[in-house]
Amino acid sequence: MKRKQFIKTTSAAVVGSMLTPMVSCKTEKKPTPKTKGSMQRTNWAGNYTYKAKHIHEPKSVTEIQDLVKNLDVQKALGSTHCFNDIADSPKNQISTKHLNKVIEINKENKTVRVEAGARYGDFAEMLHEKGFALHNLASLPHISVAGACATATHGSGVNNKNLAGQVVSIELVKPDGSLVELSREHPDFGAVVVGLGAFGIITTLTLMLQDAFDVQQNVFLDLPLESLKSNFEKIMQSGYSVSLFTDWMDNKVSEVWIKRTFTPDMTDLGTNFFGAVPATKNIHPIVALDAVNCTEQMGVPGPWYDRLPHFKMGFTPSAGEELQSEYFIPREHAVDAILAIEKMKDEIYPHILISEIRAIAADGFWMSPCYQQDCITIHTTWQQKPQEVMALLPKVEEALAPFNAKPHWGKLFSLDAKTLQARYPKYKDFIALAKKYDPQGKFKNSYLTEHIYA
Ligand SMILES: Cc1cc2nc3c(=O)[nH]c(=O)nc-3n(C[C@H](O)[C@H](O)[C@H](O)COP(=O)(O)OP(=O)(O)OC[C@H]3O[C@@H](n4cnc5c(N)ncnc54)[C@H](O)[C@@H]3O)c2cc1C
Repeated sequence: MKRKQFIKTTSAAVVGSMLTPMVSCKTEKKPTPKTKGSMQRTNWAGNYTYKAKHIHEPKSVTEIQDLVKNLDVQKALGSTHCFNDIADSPKNQISTKHLNKVIEINKENKTVRVEAGARYGDFAEMLHEKGFALHNLASLPHISVAGACATATHGSGVNNKNLAGQVVSIELVKPDGSLVELSREHPDFGAVVVGLGAFGIITTLTLMLQDAFDVQQNVFLDLPLESLKSNFEKIMQSGYSVSLFTDWMDNKVSEVWIKRTFTPDMTDLGTNFFGAVPATKNIHPIVALDAVNCTEQMGVPGPWYDRLPHFKMGFTPSAGEELQSEYFIPREHAVDAILAIEKMKDEIYPHILISEIRAIAADGFWMSPCYQQDCITIHTTWQQKPQEVMALLPKVEEALAPFNAKPHWGKLFSLDAKTLQARYPKYKDFIALAKKYDPQGKFKNSYLTEHIYA
């Protein structure tokens, strides 16, 4: 089934919500996707129903090894936060939900070893209490470490690589059930960490740590588009992590979120930030919504894990009835790419919740959209209108084509394998290596067949 079709068929039941309930910032928990024994299981957003008939929930590495060895077709499933079929399998999904522990903190090497299904929010506070930090986090801490790294999930910061950049080594169960360790020195490391689930099942990851630090978060409102055009680099470099939120209307960026490493003698950002004005209270990325679940702003210093994500650890940031797309663009084309999307504002506005522009530093992962390339990303959270969004994405992709934009692997897109292949120098090497690891195609699924192996 083609991408556009599956989005149509799997989300008929969830179309049509109104904007406010969709992104409400109340503390109610979104129901956990149904698992064992249920007729239907969905991803976190509810827009995709997994087709795999069997969900396995092993509690140990040995159990995973047995499953991998004995099952003919299967796929690892993390915290289900992808918006497409990347984590699905024609038959079996192997959930890592019970493999969620911290195994060891090595104070001397400044590393932490975690099980693959651990979510960043499960151990970030503990790291801080022990004097350590991760270099960055995504917008929310509810995602599994292995699942996030597999799709090159990122936060923001001109000097911050995506989250896979923290990985020092991994343990992987190969299709024959054997366990191998791959560290940074291993020639396959650059392919397997951002591996789209194609190589086997990662059981543990060792992540590099740095000393714990505090972060001060300030939000500025109504940055004029003209000012963004002339000052883009300065704006993105004004903090450790900077995000621009916009609905593309009114020739402005509605919010600039600046997260700076806190030092007692740091200078104030002033009252005129390139034409934007300081917010006078905590603000939600969508101005009209209550900021109760958002991380503390107004320059109040706090630990890295409670400022780098936009949403607090203990809360679910939205009800989940949304769709997301995101495109990575080489940083030198940032302003032109932003203006190309701004031209589409009248088409985009009826379906958008909010867009976010971030910066990510280059890395060496073969299938990372930032492979050897500093990037910005243009992310959009859409209303859960699958047909409208999937009709619009080819137009967005066309507008961004002159900049060789690459989609986020875990979000919605419509680019075909041939186009993607031309934008990734190591695509063919990735395919060859994935086939070498998995000659029988145990970890193949329709996503890989359609977008990678085609
Ligand atoms: C509300 C929301 C906010 C988000 N914010 C951001 C953001 O700020 N930045 C960003 O870049 N992305 C963001 N995302 C996207 C999200 O980070 C990615 O989709 C990520 O891959 C989700 O991780 P997961 O564990 O849920 O993966 P899953 O959807 O469960 O799986 C994703 C892929 O990883 C593979 N995988 C999972 N576990 C393993 C394993 N143990 N071994 C091998 N392969 C494995 C799966 O097979 C699959 O191919 C957001 C998504 C949502 C829903």
